Amino acid sequence: MPELPEVEALAGYLRQRAVGRRVDRLEVAAISALKTYDPAPTAVAGRAVVDARRHGKFLDVLVEGDLHLVVHLARAGWLHYREAFPATTPLRPGKGPIAVRVRLDDGSGFDLTEAGTQKKLAAYLVGDPAAVPGVAKLGPDALAADLPTFTERLRSRRGQVKGVLTDQAVLSGIGNAYSDEILHAAKLSPFAITDRLSDAELAALHAATRQVLGDAVERSLGQRAAELKGEKRSGLKVHARTGLPCPVCGDTVREVSFADSSLQYCPTCQTGGKPLADRRLSRLVR
Ligand SMILES: [Zn+2]
Repeated sequence: MPELPEVEALAGYLRQRAVGRRVDRLEVAAISALKTYDPAPTAVAGRAVVDARRHGKFLDVLVEGDLHLVVHLARAGWLHYREAFPATTPLRPGKGPIAVRVRLDDGSGFDLTEAGTQKKLAAYLVGDPAAVPGVAKLGPDALAADLPTFTERLRSRRGQVKGVLTDQAVLSGIGNAYSDEILHAAKLSPFAITDRLSDAELAALHAATRQVLGDAVERSLGQRAAELKGEKRSGLKVHARTGLPCPVCGDTVREVSFADSSLQYCPTCQTGGKPLADRRLSRLVR
């Protein structure tokens, strides 16, 4: 799933490539992906793209006249920029992974695609991004939050730090992959309870958040949109590396699995060398 760094990079790419161009047509192939009906998709035709922004993990393409195409890419969604489209015939609804296509006046444009059978990609055409329910409830941006804000937000929600860090209402932008990386960099157990974290642990977590997300944004920004792949990130130390050696200490990266997700961590770096029990099997180790 694309998280803050990937969405930031997509917005950066659109700022370079799409801003200043006029929209020829907004085509919706997957009717269920477009969550709004007023204004209609035809409302953006002929208007120039004026900016591309990010709200947490939401991408916001702003066109003249204060219209926002706000997109949540969900687990398997992505944006593909095309220098040209194969044909001028409109998309056929319900065929293939393309949910939404935006054609620009220079013949280029982008497709919002979603792989797999679970269709969760959501697009909204709105006059104000706050009209999107997921955007309205976002907490402060994870990369922009200063230490006092970060500390206040983490302490506002009692729970396992992995779950609190990925709660978009607490802080926005962090998902499953980067929370694994941040907790590893901060040397904290994913199951540590937030209101028991010391000031020093929260300061380490804040520093790790900035470092991990900042580095990932930098790596992503240098790449073209076509080369950015949410699921093929580089530079990860523990996420999706179960069984491989931790690049910091050499211990074996371990995993805890849940019904529809899993987390990865390094016992030596994060849990005093003790493996975490799988929640489903036994009492968990903190
Ligand atoms: Zn380690």
